[in-house]
Amino acid sequence: MTDIDTLIANTIREDVRAGHIYNVPDASGYIKLDAMENPYELPEHLRQELAARLAEAVLNRYPVASYATLKQKIRASLGVPNGYDVILGNGSDEIISIIATATARQNLDGKTRRAVLMAPSPAFVMFQRSAQFAGMDYVGVPLKADFSLDRAAMLAAIEQHKPAVVFLAYPNNPTGNLYDEADMIAIIEALGDSGIAVVDEAYQPFARTSFMDRLPQYPNLMVMRTLSKLGLAGIRLGYLAAAPALLEQFDKVRAPYNVNVLTQVAAEFALDHIDVLNEQAAQLNQARGELAAALAELPGVTVFPSSANFITFRVADADRTCAKLFAERVLIKNLSKMHELLANCIRVTVSTPEENSVFLNALKASL
Ligand code: PMP
Repeated sequence: MTDIDTLIANTIREDVRAGHIYNVPDASGYIKLDAMENPYELPEHLRQELAARLAEAVLNRYPVASYATLKQKIRASLGVPNGYDVILGNGSDEIISIIATATARQNLDGKTRRAVLMAPSPAFVMFQRSAQFAGMDYVGVPLKADFSLDRAAMLAAIEQHKPAVVFLAYPNNPTGNLYDEADMIAIIEALGDSGIAVVDEAYQPFARTSFMDRLPQYPNLMVMRTLSKLGLAGIRLGYLAAAPALLEQFDKVRAPYNVNVLTQVAAEFALDHIDVLNEQAAQLNQARGELAAALAELPGVTVFPSSANFITFRVADADRTCAKLFAERVLIKNLSKMHELLANCIRVTVSTPEENSVFLNALKASL
């Protein structure tokens, strides 16, 4: 007789057994402001056109493995410099995992140091999770209290830990701010040929500033983007731009058909209509300004500057406020327990004027 607990103890890694599944709350019946999604769908005529394209998609064959057409459209719409290439992932989540897998040098001979993945802290949680699952050491270097990069601390940590990879989310999640460019450049330069800097530009459509055109200047720079925040979170497509010789190494650990045919068709269609998505992003930026101003008016609320499609703010008692918002069927993210810099902080996704106003009213009642 196989005992399932013994089987798990004998087979599954200790850190995995001790860990937890990435928590995604069930949002049915809620106003969903916890995951930085674009609340707008494609206009109806485009949805019809996309449906017709999807109906023609060849589903009995594997995707065309080169993804040449899609990559070409991405290079064009992202402004990837000539001579630079992209690889694709099932969301940028998968790209983070690919980067960790390819750089996770193990200590198999008892002499080689395990590779280090570094990021400012707090950062997007998948940096740490991917590092852990790949068997890397993770080093988080605290941001300053205003969420700016602590350049001296980052440079000292680079010197000490010699990270293989440093992730810099620009703008950062969960804080929403853009780091100072000169700080980022100092980090990229300090890494030189001993470490790769990944600038994660998931929220670039709302910040409109990018490191993409710096690729030719820094061979150790890679720029990551996603279609998720721009309105296509459901299709799961992320991409990584870098020098072809470097990308080739990451392509080796990528599963061959990681982007499915339906995603391929939908992404090509979306990139052909990128102006529609960019217009929605502009609308959300306008709403972000209004929401931030309204939040700043509330007694006891501190609003942090955001260049993304979400706003992080501090209240007197985040647990109490979140519980009350939850009771009003508004789903937001309580950041309190994530990091000491985020004590009593809450993150809300910017949405339609209607949803923002439901959120604001519920918040006012909850303070
Ligand atoms: N990077 C950052 C900074 C994020 O906040 C997120 C999503 N929350 C991602 C990457 C992952 O995006 P996706 O996998 O949807 O492309």
